[in-house]
Amino acid sequence: MENINLKVLSFSKNSQKIINGTEISENLKLQVKNEILSLKNKINRSPKLVVILVGENPASKVYVGNKQKTSLEIGIQSEIIKLDENTNQNELINIIKKLNVDANVDGILVQLPLPKQICELEILKTINPLKDVDCFHPENVGLMLIGKPRFLPCTPAGIIEMLKQKNITLEGKNVVVIGRSNIVGKPLALLLLQNNATVTICHSKTKNLEKLTQKADILIVAIGKANFLTKDMIKKNSIIIDVGINRIDNKLYGDVNFKDVFEKASFITPVPGGVGKMTIIMLMKNTVSAYKIHNKII
Ligand code: NDP
Repeated sequence: MENINLKVLSFSKNSQKIINGTEISENLKLQVKNEILSLKNKINRSPKLVVILVGENPASKVYVGNKQKTSLEIGIQSEIIKLDENTNQNELINIIKKLNVDANVDGILVQLPLPKQICELEILKTINPLKDVDCFHPENVGLMLIGKPRFLPCTPAGIIEMLKQKNITLEGKNVVVIGRSNIVGKPLALLLLQNNATVTICHSKTKNLEKLTQKADILIVAIGKANFLTKDMIKKNSIIIDVGINRIDNKLYGDVNFKDVFEKASFITPVPGGVGKMTIIMLMKNTVSAYKIHNKII
């Protein structure tokens, strides 16, 4: 009997370690849904998000489908424009230019990656910065850099929000980010810094990576390599955030070896059901911000 009780106790203690992105994002969804309902009374139409998908990338198709599903659940109109793999840059630019001036469209998102004949930067620069709900336009990146953000980048903002919801403070913490992409690593490091963390950014050329990761109070891994992070690389009781989404034989794996690291960590995010869920709800929040800007509510 005592053994059973001990097992139950240890299970509930252990499950509290998991930062549940699904649960946190469901609560946020309700808040955003209610905000949209009250804004609709003033504006007389729902916010609208247009997502452009070029080509047949299977992962992109799943992401776009998830974005549409969440949009519809919370009262955002959703349109997906599907374009052929061979679409050329000018065709895509012309479509974006039309959406830029369409009074019924609040947010425009071009799903990345794009086929190689199209320059990503040229496309991101074409999106009206006031409708750039992914926060990838150089103007919006610049505003974020100087601490006056119009929108927040979805994955980094989702991670900060997850930590807040778990009452994990960033001030004074040693945070190590592995990965320096424009989508995750770099903007994330910036937001962490703005939250008064001491930030170390690591990448593929970092020497003695374990020496740095072993010092982290909070370790965030965004590299795209399944099960890369193991327990020997972390400090006891550190907080582990797994951004990675790696598909192998139709199964999803994070960049963290969850089973190996679990015991040693004080908090950990799962994959799936972690950061990915937060990314989508942050996109919804940005779409509502764009809708408010568009309708001069802020
Ligand atoms: P990128 O491929 O653009 O960047 C990967 C980064 O990881 C690079 O900076 C690279 O370094 C670094 N890196 C690669 N291998 C190592 C290594 N062995 N040691 C240290 N650093 C390494 O990926 P993204 O940032 O776009 O995405 C990262 C992961 O996050 C992917 O699995 C992606 O699917 C996932 N993702 C998840 C999201 C979510 O919502 N959960 C959203 C976006 C991405 P270098 O710069 O030197 O090449």
